[in-house]
Order: sequence, then structure tokens, then C-alpha cells
Amino acid sequence: MKNSIIFLLLLIPIIGKSQDGIKPIIDVHLHGYTEQSYFVAPSGDGTLSPPSFDEFKSQIESMMKKYNIVKAVNSGGVYDASMNDKIIPGIEVYGKPSVDTVQFEKLVQEGKIKVFGEVGAQYVGLTLSDPIYEPYLRICEQYQIPVALHTGGGPPGVAYREAPKFRLSLGDPLLIEDVIIKYPKLKIYIMHAGGNYYENTLTLMHNYEHVYSDLGILLWEEGMVSVWTEDFLRKAKKANLLDRIMYGSDPMVWPHAIEKSIQQLDSYEFLTEEDKRNIFYYNAVEFLNLKE
Ligand SMILES: [Zn+2]
Repeated sequence: MKNSIIFLLLLIPIIGKSQDGIKPIIDVHLHGYTEQSYFVAPSGDGTLSPPSFDEFKSQIESMMKKYNIVKAVNSGGVYDASMNDKIIPGIEVYGKPSVDTVQFEKLVQEGKIKVFGEVGAQYVGLTLSDPIYEPYLRICEQYQIPVALHTGGGPPGVAYREAPKFRLSLGDPLLIEDVIIKYPKLKIYIMHAGGNYYENTLTLMHNYEHVYSDLGILLWEEGMVSVWTEDFLRKAKKANLLDRIMYGSDPMVWPHAIEKSIQQLDSYEFLTEEDKRNIFYYNAVEFLNLKE
């Protein structure tokens, strides 16, 4: 008897832990690098990225294993072959894409590009409504390739440094309304939930019922950015829009951000377990058409 009680006591935390561990997560916002493009720098919260590209890849991979992240949309760069079954390949875009439309369509047909983005138009002084994206959006609509659009802000002061044409005002999701009208069947998600424009994201989602968003940096950046997150989620819940919000970690070169953002989303007590499961997994299954 005593032994069986001890056994049961031992079992409880194990069961609790393994159940948490089993629940799958889809991350719609991952970034990849190459040996050349990888960089070591402190993140907004002061954590330094891993010292080498190999170490970075392996830390991302173990983080995904630890939290049972079964799929991840990745913009550009490479991971090891062991990640192949998890990666949903995207294409990193700023201004004019790196491939022409003929190559783009071929890559789409071959399944080598499954998401158009992350599109960082804002960083080069543009919005998705700029005509340079039009022929690509037409292909995306035709093949039902989701567009992943960066919205909201950027690293403080970025316009003084690497992105002189960056403007905060270009991160307003309402600026893409013409695109939504022109390509009514285009699948699109508003990355970072519009950042400071999160209320406009909700308005856009309310008016256009096929528009989704991800949480991205809102789940792990501290200070100003974190102020918007809870308000966005509370309002989305009130507005019945939680079923179109997806978990995306946007760790960039900082693998710890995956863990931090999962814990952050888990910590909101006003969200039910079901709300969280939808954000972590089911909404992305629906949006990315992953039902098997
Ligand atoms: Zn990103």
C-alpha cells in the first residue's frame, strides 16, 4: 500500500509533465540563417545569441523538441536535414523578391516555397500594396500560398542604422486593405499582430473574415512591446477573434525566445486552456491547411 502511494505520488508530476509535453505546437514565425548571414548579438532582453551558427541550429532544434513544436514556418536560411519534416519553407522578402515570378511559380509548384514571407516591406519604405508585389500576390492567390507580412514596429532606432527608409507608420495593417480587396482569396497573416496598431489588426480581422494574425515578438519582447500583448488578446477574446490568432515565436538568432514566448502565452489566466490550444496549434492547422 505504502509503496503504491509512493508510486502514485511519483507518477503525478510525470504524467502532468508528459501531457504538457505531448500537446503539439505549430510555430508560424521562425527565421533561418546561413553561415554567412548568422550573427551574434544581444537580443532586446539582453540575451546573447549562441556563439556559432551550428550551435544556433542545434539550440533551435532542441527547443522545438522540448516543446513538441511539430511544424514551423521558416523564412529563408537553412536548418539541418533532421528538421526537414518540421520546416514549412517560406521566402524572406523585403523589396523586390530575390527570385523572379517565373522562378517563384516554379518553386511554389515544386513545394519549395509554401509561404510568401516574412515580407518586411516596411523596412525598405514600402507596404504590401506596392505594385512590385502584385505579380507575386497573384501567384500566391492562385496557389493558395499564405502571405506572412511583418507589421508594427522594428528595433528601436533602426531607421538611423540599417534601414533608413523604415517608418513606423508603414507598419499599420490597414495599409494593406487594397491588397485584400484586390485579391479576395489571398491567404494572409498579420505578423506581430500589428504591434502598436493591434486595434487596427482586430478591425481588419473583423471586417475580413479570412485574415489571420500571429503574435511574434509580442510574446517575448519586454517593455513597450509587452504592453500591447495582453490588451490585444483580451480584446480579441471579447471580439470572438481568438480563433484566427496563431502562435509564432520570431526568435531570430535567439533560441531562448521560443521558451519564453510559450511560457508567456501560457501565463495569461484570462485565456482558457481551449483558447491556448487553438492559438498554439489548431488555428494554424486550419490556416495552413495541415489537416491530415
Ligand atoms: Zn520575423
